[in-house]
Amino acid sequence: MTMLAEVIGDPIAHSKSPLIHRFWIEALGIDADYRAQHVPAEGLGAYFEAARARSDWRGCNVTIPHKLAVMALVDDPGEVRGSIGAMNTVLRQRDGSLIGTNTDAAGFAAPIADRDLAGRPVVVIGAGGAAHAILFALARLGVGPVTVQNRSPLKGAGLLARFGLKGEVKPLGAPLPPAALLVNASALGMAGQPPLDLDLAPLPEDALVYDIVYAPLETPLLAAAHDRGLETVDGLEMLIGQAALAFELFFGAAPPRDRDEDLRDRLLA
Ligand code: NAP
Repeated sequence: MTMLAEVIGDPIAHSKSPLIHRFWIEALGIDADYRAQHVPAEGLGAYFEAARARSDWRGCNVTIPHKLAVMALVDDPGEVRGSIGAMNTVLRQRDGSLIGTNTDAAGFAAPIADRDLAGRPVVVIGAGGAAHAILFALARLGVGPVTVQNRSPLKGAGLLARFGLKGEVKPLGAPLPPAALLVNASALGMAGQPPLDLDLAPLPEDALVYDIVYAPLETPLLAAAHDRGLETVDGLEMLIGQAALAFELFFGAAPPRDRDEDLRDRLLA
């Protein structure tokens, strides 16, 4: 029986997840498929009811706008509801029950794992679903203080409190403090959205600029960081990292990460 996993969202046509998972399925030669399913909010309950009955369905990734709603639909949300507060992966157990987890936090943290950020100042732009996973990961790394800039400042304050982070909330576009890490976790800079317009001059020479937006890959923020000679991490690193963790949960095999360069070329083609 061919194992099946999916990514669900609304809209979903733009998703790069099928390309990533199929690349690994092909590389490993396993009998599996991964596809995108358009599931609107009103169809979410019926989607999971049907999935419970399918023994070939191993699970799904969950994207906009379902990362919060799905937590109420799985049998076992694990620690996710009380910790990160957003779910991006659902797995089907043999008995048809569903468990949920989040691979975004670890996918975000992997590219910065070798940097000592404990006690260092960090700026995060955005306070949406992705920011939940990112602030959770940053809290575990012991960073601080954290400045959150968001269009809706209240959401930023809620996130700092949720993850027990010391810091402050500033309006979008406020001057940056001299942070060791700047993360764009907002939609700004994404194709079709306004660019994230920040003056990077206050950042020290060894600051890292991390943009989780991956379309385009070189966002205006990353271009500005390159112009200043700052080190950067692009959005494909997190995208591939979170997918790799989900792939292993779905199919029980580790993806061939030594093929990441090939995979990036395909994603950019
Ligand atoms: P989300 O929950 O909808 O949050 C969007 C965030 O962007 C919020 O902070 C929102 O501010 C802000 N925003 C949106 N439009 C804006 C505008 N016109 N002006 C100012 N602020 C604006 O989305 P998400 O899931 O967090 O995703 C955010 C971005 O990260 C997207 O580009 C997504 O593709 C990317 N992403 C990448 C990965 C990866 O693996 N690389 C994973 C997840 C997401 P308000 O709170 O004020 O609405």
